[in-house]
Amino acid sequence: MPLDDRYQLAFRLYPYARSADQDTDRPVRHPVVVMGGGPVGIAMALDLGLQGIPVVLLDDHEGVGQGSRAICFAKRTLEIAHRYGCGRPMLDNGVLWNVGKVFHDDRQIYEFDLLPEDGHRNPAFINLQQPHFERFLVERVREAQAAGAPIALRGKNRIDAVAVRDDHVVIDITTPDGPYRIEADWLIGCDGASSPLRKMMGLDFEGRVFQDNFLIADITMKADFPTERWFWFEPHFKSGDSALLHKQPDGVWRIDFQLGWDIDRKEEMKEENIRRRLDAMLGPDVEYELVWTSIYTFQCRRMRNFRHGRVIFAGDAAHQVSPFGARGANSGIQDVDNLGWKLGLVLNGTAPESLLDSYDLERRHGADENILNSSRSTDFITPKSKISRAFRNAVLDLAEHHAFARPLVNSGRLSVPCVYDGLPLNTPDGLPGGPARTRPGAPCPDAPIGGGFLLDHLGWDFALLGVGVDVPDRFDAEGLTLRGLTVPAEGDIKDRYLGDTTCAVYLIRPDQHVAGRWPAFDAERVSAALARSMGKD
Ligand SMILES: Cc1cc2nc3c(=O)[nH]c(=O)nc-3n(C[C@H](O)[C@H](O)[C@H](O)COP(=O)(O)OP(=O)(O)OC[C@H]3O[C@@H](n4cnc5c(N)ncnc54)[C@H](O)[C@@H]3O)c2cc1C
Repeated sequence: MPLDDRYQLAFRLYPYARSADQDTDRPVRHPVVVMGGGPVGIAMALDLGLQGIPVVLLDDHEGVGQGSRAICFAKRTLEIAHRYGCGRPMLDNGVLWNVGKVFHDDRQIYEFDLLPEDGHRNPAFINLQQPHFERFLVERVREAQAAGAPIALRGKNRIDAVAVRDDHVVIDITTPDGPYRIEADWLIGCDGASSPLRKMMGLDFEGRVFQDNFLIADITMKADFPTERWFWFEPHFKSGDSALLHKQPDGVWRIDFQLGWDIDRKEEMKEENIRRRLDAMLGPDVEYELVWTSIYTFQCRRMRNFRHGRVIFAGDAAHQVSPFGARGANSGIQDVDNLGWKLGLVLNGTAPESLLDSYDLERRHGADENILNSSRSTDFITPKSKISRAFRNAVLDLAEHHAFARPLVNSGRLSVPCVYDGLPLNTPDGLPGGPARTRPGAPCPDAPIGGGFLLDHLGWDFALLGVGVDVPDRFDAEGLTLRGLTVPAEGDIKDRYLGDTTCAVYLIRPDQHVAGRWPAFDAERVSAALARSMGKD
């Protein structure tokens, strides 16, 4: 329920315009069609378009902003956004934060810092309203289009039916001018949690539905809370079983109250009842205005498989989690990061189609990790029995005085990218004594180099990184040309990439995950690892 017209964050970014495809006798075939223009779909179109791959995105609306949803965007998402060229406006407009505090009743139990080390370009998180996040992505699409990137965004193009063939997909679309049909070599389903595409294909989710309701109140207020994430278990102000406070840009604050399962939604959504909860939390002297309120429930579940022949699912269409941990949109952007380069290599004939099965495997692995973390947080926040509540509260009491109990407190494990441990694209670790955080399958940690940051130098392709040992500036193998970057073994990069060793060579994938690592450059080993991570093994 939008309560304040000044806070209408709906942007009509891709108004309907008739396309040439609507005036042909035969359906036009496109290499890639993306279904859905939420954050995941737009990022997908941007990723492919920036690689020069023609992509058509179809959305049933004309822009972004369907209410107040995601606000917390994680470091890894910002790193990916920098690669796309839209990280800067997100950082400039977001509220940067690293620190969280946990309270029980009226006592602070502890505080945590999600980025306790220096030498990173991005903070652990920014808070930015989802419509703004999407707007910055679309603005980057517009820039890329102006520079020749083959991206088409088509608003008010609703996909109503698909027919999946062995080597293409037939897509029926409805527009304000009536229906038309196109074909796609590949269809990427980014059509959100209730995914009509999933239903059209007779597919479903597996997982848990949590029986609880949460009230979101986005408010403007004259109060001076710090830029931190504050979470209360059993808050003394009794506005809910738990409560969460986050600062957003434009003087807006996000407050979540846990209401329980057995509620009268209509009654709870009445302004006087929402204000009663807020007044109890904020005290009588704080002036505030409501700008957006809603009640949400959630699921933790995923599709059994994300790839179905020529149809590939990403984002909420493929998997869902609770908002605790901010793993929804953030993991969807990681899906895109994983799929973009693989689809690029398959479409230009450099890698076999089977490389796309590794998307399915790796991102199901990521989804499982997110679902596990999200389910555990939810179980801790909303104990399902008297016994589990007693255990939970005992942990909270202990954590106030004893550091060992703090890792057991779970108010939401916040989004970090997963490590693709044990999955087939990795070459077994060839660097004994190397740090665990940069083992094969891990996302590369950033570090300052020269006047900038490592991740900015890795680019869009496979890369070689030599730390304290030379790698060739250019290395040709498997139909690709890899750029080599040699850096001295000093500072943060030494700690993060060498550990107990003195020098190391890393083969890094286009999505900045480590494919393999060794003490020195060896052309044969690197070529074999490259072939493996392109799915040629
Ligand atoms: C209260 C709340 C708080 C949240 N907080 C966070 C957070 O802090 N951080 C975080 O990372 N995540 C958060 N999330 C989750 C986040 O909002 C979602 O994960 C994210 O929106 C998923 O993006 P998506 O692009 O996959 O799907 P969506 O954003 O749902 O986009 C799907 C798109 O597909 C379009 N579409 C649907 N059907 C069709 C059709 N037939 N034809 C064409 N187009 C179609 C829709 O119009 C829509 O534009 C939160 C969610 C909620 C509810």
